[in-house]
Amino acid sequence: MSALGAYPDEDARERELDALCAQAGGALVTLGTSVAGRPIRGARVPSTTPGAPRVLVNANIHGPEHVGSRTAMAVLRALGEKRPGERAQELRRAAEVVVVPCVNVDGFARTVASGGRGTLKELRCNEHGVDLNRNFPPPTVGDQGSFWGLVGRRDLVIAGSSDPARATWRGPAPLSEPEAKALYDFALGERFHAAVSLHSFMGTFIPPCVRTAEEARGYRRLVAAARRAQRRRYLRLQWGFFDLFTGELEDFLHHETGTWAVTLECFTLWQTFAQHLRAPTLFARFNPIDPTPVVDNDAPAVIAFLLAALALPHPRRSG
Ligand SMILES: [Zn+2]
Repeated sequence: MSALGAYPDEDARERELDALCAQAGGALVTLGTSVAGRPIRGARVPSTTPGAPRVLVNANIHGPEHVGSRTAMAVLRALGEKRPGERAQELRRAAEVVVVPCVNVDGFARTVASGGRGTLKELRCNEHGVDLNRNFPPPTVGDQGSFWGLVGRRDLVIAGSSDPARATWRGPAPLSEPEAKALYDFALGERFHAAVSLHSFMGTFIPPCVRTAEEARGYRRLVAAARRAQRRRYLRLQWGFFDLFTGELEDFLHHETGTWAVTLECFTLWQTFAQHLRAPTLFARFNPIDPTPVVDNDAPAVIAFLLAALALPHPRRSG
């Protein structure tokens, strides 16, 4: 047991990734290296159908959000269990699945080392203090150039801050950080059909901002499919369609690589509130003391989202 109770430390997490990847008949991939020199690794699980499209499950781009990493591992485990009739096996027939359980490996390690105590700024960001999920380039939009300048003029705190002291600091420039650059290059090469990014806490699905009503309808359908797979159904936070780009991974994936991409915030607001009264650390705000019920609730939703997306054509690319 690590300093974080039921949650593994980084060494145990990497050993688990090795074991589950082998069990699923997958191959390990290294996307790149963090600021502190830690490898960012994942498992590539081949489809049983040759030439099948690829999908991505990634987690823990924010340091303390370990329950997302546990959910990603649960998806990988289900792919390797080969239980007939399971939706995970349906997914293996439909797609090659890449699982990256921890993107912000330095933030993860910092969270373990601190026993989950610290400020949001201290635990969420990478080693340079950058919010990695605000460090992706916003979509290019033809002769209007980039939206980055537009967002940069307005300091939207929730959307990402230009202030290095804030937990949502987007960094000195898009892709300034090696972790974001590694994921960016990897996704450009893979052209994933669909992707789920696991975060905590909010009990919410957050699709990207899209440009057409048809794409907004697409996301409503995909999130509905994911919610049907949950016992405790989460909310959907969707802005319809208007252009507000914040440097998040989902916006980049949707608009630049033509990927159906969603953020899934595990662990509901009520659960975190109740738990925080008893366990007042930052870690306990973001992660259930026992991850199992949340993981059991959310891993099937990840699989359902990906399967539903695989039944739709790619969203249009802007690039
Ligand atoms: Zn997050």
